[in-house]
Amino acid sequence: MRSYDVARFGAPLQLFERPTPKPAGTEVLVRTLAAGVCHSDLHLWEGEYDLGGGKKLHVKDRGITPPFTMGHEIVGEVVALGPEAEGARVGDRRLIHPWIGCGTCAVCRGGDEHLCASPRFLGVQKPGGYSDHVLVPHARYLVEYGTLSPEQAAPFACSGVTAYSALNKFAPGLLKSEPVVVIGAGGLGLMALSILKAMGGAGAVVADIDPKKREAAKQAGALAAVDSAAPDALKQIQSATAGGAHAVIDFVGSSATARLGTDALAKGGKYVIVGLFGGDLTLSLPMIPWRALSVQGSYTGNLRELKELMALAATGRVPPVPLTRHSLHEASAALEQLKAGRVIGRAVLVP
Ligand code: NAD
Repeated sequence: MRSYDVARFGAPLQLFERPTPKPAGTEVLVRTLAAGVCHSDLHLWEGEYDLGGGKKLHVKDRGITPPFTMGHEIVGEVVALGPEAEGARVGDRRLIHPWIGCGTCAVCRGGDEHLCASPRFLGVQKPGGYSDHVLVPHARYLVEYGTLSPEQAAPFACSGVTAYSALNKFAPGLLKSEPVVVIGAGGLGLMALSILKAMGGAGAVVADIDPKKREAAKQAGALAAVDSAAPDALKQIQSATAGGAHAVIDFVGSSATARLGTDALAKGGKYVIVGLFGGDLTLSLPMIPWRALSVQGSYTGNLRELKELMALAATGRVPPVPLTRHSLHEASAALEQLKAGRVIGRAVLVP
């Protein structure tokens, strides 16, 4: 099989040819049909995270060492089954839930494998979709995606379920009555707009530094699109949310956006942080109880949420997010374009 791997952090991906694995036990082998390119792949490829205060976390400290195959938004066709595999047939075309844990700890048994302390995420700790084949440990991670194309379906495995899980951090009644402030209208932010619409949400006020992303957000039905770098960005958000936001989701997660997002909160408001751009946040402590604020992290989503989301998508109510298709061998170029901010929506690799 062929894969394009991170052989050296920050350097162009390198083609590797290895024997195609034979599934053992409950494993299922899929032939990749589409693989989304997520900004998290950029962080992995670059090799470090900005922890704020001049501190960095190296990808190697997460136990990930080159060469490794990225790609966690995968749609594939089942081509071989391990002797104990059940629940899939050769020829099935499925979206793959990549957020796989150890499977045995209390967190995994409770259904939250994405929060397992010993993750085996596809495209992170285990080989992912920047490849023509992917080994999946069990057929239960294969999810039906209805009438969507493989390219449309692939981003649901990360940008979709991550946005859905972040939206689920708010009461459904609140989403229906109050606008959500969405910071960052990239792959995740635009997906959040689509899912919010399908959930019957009141709409989104979007903040982004890039005029093209703001335009894409308006096309996707944003109530307002604010330049988050403008000196009066906070005022604009406050006026678009009738004085303050009850719900903010930060799909950037930088020092600047965390400040803007928490400053924009109304009393009793919640700021959910998803983005990993990095930095830190200083909050005045008395303000947290006085204004009854909540700050919550949200990390991908679980298999139950992905299945719920795909059932919602099957109703046809989730508007498609703009896509750019690339051949698998163009994976490095796709990463470079994402880094340069030139991707609207999602780039998807097609072998
Ligand atoms: P993307 O590159 O598609 O989009 C990023 C968007 O943020 C762009 O529209 C860009 O213009 C905008 N932006 C950048 N700096 C900004 C600023 N200072 N203010 C406002 N907007 C700004 O990225 P993506 O794939 O949507 O991912 C976004 C982030 O979410 C990444 O850090 C990624 O690693 C992270 N992520 C987190 C999770 C999770 O589970 N927590 C899952 C997937 C991705």
